[in-house]
Amino acid sequence: MFTISDIRREFDRLDGVTGLNTTDVPIRISARMSRALGVCRSRSTEGGGVEAVDVAFADYLCRCGTEEEFLNTVRHEYAHLYNILHDGIRCGHDARWKEVALWLGASPDRLADYRDLLARARKAEALPKRKTEKKPVKPKNCRK
Ligand SMILES: [Zn+2]
Repeated sequence: MFTISDIRREFDRLDGVTGLNTTDVPIRISARMSRALGVCRSRSTEGGGVEAVDVAFADYLCRCGTEEEFLNTVRHEYAHLYNILHDGIRCGHDARWKEVALWLGASPDRLADYRDLLARARKAEALPKRKTEKKPVKPKNCRK
């Protein structure tokens, strides 16, 4: 089980590496995320720049993830934050992002292989419920 304090602690450590100050960037744990493990949200500023909105992590990652899966995701999202705060750009998962991800000790793959984690989360019933319930199957008419 990982908490916002654990994320904050890793962000603080990474701030020490990069020289950034991310203490004002809100960190959330989202129980609604069922696909992505994390997301770094940003918006365009009036001056044509970009600013960070917040960074969110999937609840099931925090509940069922291993330390490696957790830290890899935290560093992955921090690399996005670095691109925004340091470089002033959103660069997706391009070469520039990859370079930062590698520097910070995250896998440079856009998508982590988290099939194991999903299986664990499913078993623990930690994944969010589907928005729409499946329609019940109508019983067939049976004539005696
Ligand atoms: Zn990403």
